[in-house]
Amino acid sequence: MQLPIRVLQWGLGAMGSGMAKLMLQKSGLQIVAAVDARPAYVGKDLGDVLRIGEDLGVTVTDQPETVLDKSKVDIVVIATTSWAAKHAPDLKKIINAGINVISIAEEMSDVQAQSPELDKELDELAKQNGVTVLGTGVNPGFVLDLLVVTLTAGCQSVERIEASRVNDLSPYGPTVMETQGVGLTPEAFRAGVADGSIVGHVGFPESIHMISEALGLGVDRIEQIREPIISQVYRETPHVKVLPGMVAGCAHIGVGYHGDKEVIRLIHPQQIHPQLEHQDTGDYINIYGLPEIHMAIKPEIAGGKATMGIAVNMIPHVVAATPGLKRMIDLPTPAALMGESAYYRRVGE
Ligand code: NAD
Repeated sequence: MQLPIRVLQWGLGAMGSGMAKLMLQKSGLQIVAAVDARPAYVGKDLGDVLRIGEDLGVTVTDQPETVLDKSKVDIVVIATTSWAAKHAPDLKKIINAGINVISIAEEMSDVQAQSPELDKELDELAKQNGVTVLGTGVNPGFVLDLLVVTLTAGCQSVERIEASRVNDLSPYGPTVMETQGVGLTPEAFRAGVADGSIVGHVGFPESIHMISEALGLGVDRIEQIREPIISQVYRETPHVKVLPGMVAGCAHIGVGYHGDKEVIRLIHPQQIHPQLEHQDTGDYINIYGLPEIHMAIKPEIAGGKATMGIAVNMIPHVVAATPGLKRMIDLPTPAALMGESAYYRRVGE
């Protein structure tokens, strides 16, 4: 017999609400519970929170313990934070309840990269409870890691990889502007990088570690560089104004070395309105090896839509996987799952 996979959506912000709406389009998925801490959402019907014009019979709660019941939920999809350590208490609640989980927290895409002890702890806990934990998203989780790895599939050898994702920050809100340093003077930007308030992209250590592990490139040191993108022209969004000479974004670079040799360079310049200085957005992957490969996707793969897509598309792979903490390179090839049967869980076989 085949039944829909029962999903608990945890986190109903920009990403989580988009994922929930996408799941509603897949008859092989059934949203059975929803969690968010926002007081304005608690006690409301999920359909009301998603503004879809109909009730879904699912009441949003801020008490996850009341809905983490493995006899009713097959998987939790969680979209609440970027940071693995901050995320761990919530993840442990889910794992200890015996339920699979997909997280889009950037640092969950390869926990070993920065937190090997937490990686081991979550992996062991997942195995004890017989569940699978996956970190994914558009980046990290796809564009600057899994896609790079997949492109090398036919290479006989790889010397070095350089990949970049050039995107437009204009649609994002004040938090992103602050963490990317948009609208600051170059001096204030540099001070923000030094005190940790300007982070740029979250995910380079994870992506570099994932590529290195998959290919066996032996990266033993990772360096990150964050430089201001200084605007030559006036740029403006609803949240920030940038005068010529001020910072329009953060040019963030992550470099992986094997000994003294640079083997992976990932480049992610993020700024508002790049086209005002004739900068096309896009994803570019260059593999220097045999054969040499150069791939360009223009414009860039849309970050929000693709994060929602990949999290939902991975649901059946995670439900079917062996227990443990997984990365995208550990699971079957992801794909847009369109047919109804792609999602159904098999029961009683
Ligand atoms: P958001 O701020 O719009 O939404 C987060 C939601 O989670 C909010 O509704 C908030 O109330 C809720 N929340 C936070 N902590 C909670 C908790 N412990 N329990 C219950 N609810 C909680 O953020 P977003 O744009 O939806 O993104 C979510 C996270 O995913 C961000 O940290 C973002 O950086 C990350 N992200 C990763 C990728 C990727 O490629 N891996 C892509 C997009 C977003």
